Amino acid sequence: MASLGMQGPYPLSTAEIDRQITRTSAGNYALTRSTEGTFYVNYVGRSDNNLNGRLKDHVGSKYSRFMFSPAASPKAAFEKECHNYHDFGGSEKLDNERHPDRPGGTDWKCPRCQIFG
Ligand SMILES: [Zn+2]
Repeated sequence: MASLGMQGPYPLSTAEIDRQITRTSAGNYALTRSTEGTFYVNYVGRSDNNLNGRLKDHVGSKYSRFMFSPAASPKAAFEKECHNYHDFGGSEKLDNERHPDRPGGTDWKCPRCQIFG
C-alpha cells in the first residue's frame, strides 16, 4: 500500500494545528473524512510557505483529521504532493478535482506524469 510519509493523524482543529506545526514552512498534508480508525486519504495538499495557515483553511470542513510533513523547500513540497496525488488514485479517488498545480513562474515538472509537458 502507498505510504504518505507523514506524521499523525491528528484532529483537524485550530488548536491541534498550532500544537503540531509550530514553525512556518512549506509542507504537505492529507485529510480524511473518517473520524477514527484507519486514515483513508480523501484529499492531499501542500503549502509553499505556510503549512499551518493552509491547514486552517480546512477547519470546519467535511474533513475530520489530518496528517502532515514539513518540506525542505517549495519544490520538495510540490514533488511530494504529486507523489501523494498519484499514489492515492488521483482525481478519480481523491476529492482533489485537479492535478496539483505548480507555482507560477516555475518550470517544475511532475515526477510521475507528463501533465506539464
Ligand atoms: Zn502528475
